[in-house]
Amino acid sequence: MNNCVFCKIVAGEIPSSKVAETDQILAFRDIDPHAPTHVLLIPKEHALDSAADLGPEDAGWLAELMILAARVAQDEGLENGWRVLTNVGPAAGQTVFHIHFHLMGGWTDR
Ligand code: AMP
Ligand code: ZN
Repeated sequence: MNNCVFCKIVAGEIPSSKVAETDQILAFRDIDPHAPTHVLLIPKEHALDSAADLGPEDAGWLAELMILAARVAQDEGLENGWRVLTNVGPAAGQTVFHIHFHLMGGWTDR
């Protein structure tokens, strides 16, 4: 997708701090973290702008993404708790329109 920052990260055109990947999914650190550990998980292919467009055809990569999120949480030592969220639309705070999921954790004070 033209001019998409996450497509450029997948293509290696702009740098990112890669955490893990599978055939279909890339996990990298958020550049502006909102938690001690803040990782973004995206499908490498820009098939969807947001979760509003999810359909049955997305079940495969979506499961792969959630399983990778759980693996990253374990690898990052987030036993204390973690969350996964996705913003849909500007009113919800979405700023990058390549579907992505935030994995956040690492708090020690709650
Ligand atoms: P959202 O607001 O849900 O669309 O999330 C987009 C996220 O992408 C924000 O948390 C940004 O900090 C993050 N972000 C934007 N550009 C980059 C980048 N080049 N590398 C890593 N994270 C980025
Ligand atoms: Zn994209």
